[in-house]
Amino acid sequence: MEADVIVMRHPMGGAPHMLAKAVKAAVINAGDGMHEHPTQALLDMMTIHEKKGTLEGLKVAIVGDIQHSRVARSNIWGMTTMGADVILCGPTTMIPTGIEKTGAVVTTDMDHAVKDADIIMGLRIQRERQNDGLFPSVREYHQFFGIDERRQALAKDDAIIMHPGPVNRGVELSSMVIDCDRSVIDEQVTNGVAIRMALLYMMTRSER
Ligand code: ASP
Repeated sequence: MEADVIVMRHPMGGAPHMLAKAVKAAVINAGDGMHEHPTQALLDMMTIHEKKGTLEGLKVAIVGDIQHSRVARSNIWGMTTMGADVILCGPTTMIPTGIEKTGAVVTTDMDHAVKDADIIMGLRIQRERQNDGLFPSVREYHQFFGIDERRQALAKDDAIIMHPGPVNRGVELSSMVIDCDRSVIDEQVTNGVAIRMALLYMMTRSER
């Protein structure tokens, strides 16, 4: 149909890359399976840049189900490239083997992960994972890996709270943390519009 741009969200990792080889249109990956979610990482980094002025030297704790998270993969890549120190934390069953090769540090101790962090980013836990035996119960998950006010207090005083959404209240983050004035979750959504507008502009204006 001679489209200039194709925005593709697909359950299979690599699908947009395959399509990009077959068409003349610019292809934007809007999330491919458990692989990558580049525009989410760009909007996350824009939000951090707005709040902190830089990513260089910031401690970013990405916490939750790293294994199944395309958001985590794109953010690890983007943030380490921009000079942030990324620390990953979640149950051992949800940490992919070899992820430390990306330059991120891995821990299963949540207090250690969030200690003196500049950014805490929660990742969504899909409740179906409980049936796969990856964690025993939502309550236990929250106890060991959830961010509540006590854990938030271990981070820097001006640390911001992020989440790609949708958030399970009381699982990844407590309601107090989601709704506190350090939470930038709504701003992430707003910045998503700007990032995607900018990308569409660049992809339709530039020589490819
Ligand atoms: N909530 C985000 C989105 O819908 C994150 C994701 O899909 O993984 O794009």
